[in-house]
Amino acid sequence: MKIISVSSEFPTQAETKLITISRVRDAQCPLRYYKNFLEKPRQEPLFIPIELGMGGFFHDYLEKHLKLVMNLHTEIDKHHRIDVNDMLRSFRMSFVWEGKLRPPYKIVLEKLDVEDYVSKLRGVGQNFNDFLMEELPGKRILGVEEPIQLRTEKATLYGKYDLITEDSDGSITLWDWKTNILPGSQSHEEFRNQKIQLGMYAIWLKYKYDLDKVRATAVFFGDKTEQVSEMFSDEVERDVLTFLTAWRDKLNKLDSYPPLPNKSCPWCEWYPVCPAFATGRKPAPAVREGAASPSPSAAPLPFAPRRPEHEEHLLALVLGVVLALALAVAMFFPFLQKLF
Ligand code: SF4
Repeated sequence: MKIISVSSEFPTQAETKLITISRVRDAQCPLRYYKNFLEKPRQEPLFIPIELGMGGFFHDYLEKHLKLVMNLHTEIDKHHRIDVNDMLRSFRMSFVWEGKLRPPYKIVLEKLDVEDYVSKLRGVGQNFNDFLMEELPGKRILGVEEPIQLRTEKATLYGKYDLITEDSDGSITLWDWKTNILPGSQSHEEFRNQKIQLGMYAIWLKYKYDLDKVRATAVFFGDKTEQVSEMFSDEVERDVLTFLTAWRDKLNKLDSYPPLPNKSCPWCEWYPVCPAFATGRKPAPAVREGAASPSPSAAPLPFAPRRPEHEEHLLALVLGVVLALALAVAMFFPFLQKLF
């Protein structure tokens, strides 16, 4: 499997040839993949988890900020930190209306409210500033938030990077921001997907800049700041392309798309209409070591999902009837005593 070309465009491509990391994540459940990438006409997602909204917001905020820095045609320095308070104000104004989270955003985790997410975003912003002051000064910005495309004989790989910088020695790094935490040692699939994504970026960098000294790094700001990197090598290119081509071939052979419950179900935008839930099957809540907050498509499950609304209504009805009966018995008890 060989790279034919690399570019920074997303031309229209047949679904059977397309590979993106979000497709790889969603395809762990065939139904979710079908709803998100095959169904026509495409249905709007039934809700968007707040974690996803917050991640998108943070990326947009950084994109604007870093593009301004890039337009200064100067090296990054410590003064290029973001204004965390301004970011939080903007987040509140975008997501909170009349004291509530605006639809279609939804808080999946029980016991959390929107202020918990504001506070989480504050931590993410502060971690980014610490990272910027420590790691980025002296680097030159080569690009901010651009699409990447790699073509092989059999497939086309799409992705999007957050930042590319160049060091004074000419080495190049692609940065990928994450608002969650580094997947823990038990999260094999998430770790593999992370490695594949960074591998794709490293291959693209190598061919784009015709350099061997390139590195793709994901930076997790969710708790303490953590990084994982992939350098380009022939082995990385071989492993990533072989894995992704086999994945695409396997998916193209599917002729039905059944639901396959997994740890990310409570964050799945099709959860309210999923037949796996309608039949009473529910994913077991998982509390995992290093559980990350959701990446756009594959959310972990540190807590139980919210009870579906129709179940909440039924429960309220049953409780109401029981209370009414208890009240009636209490009221008529003296009368009944006299009678018997
Ligand atoms: S809720 Fe779970 S099983 Fe159902 S479509 Fe979504 S990911 Fe698949």
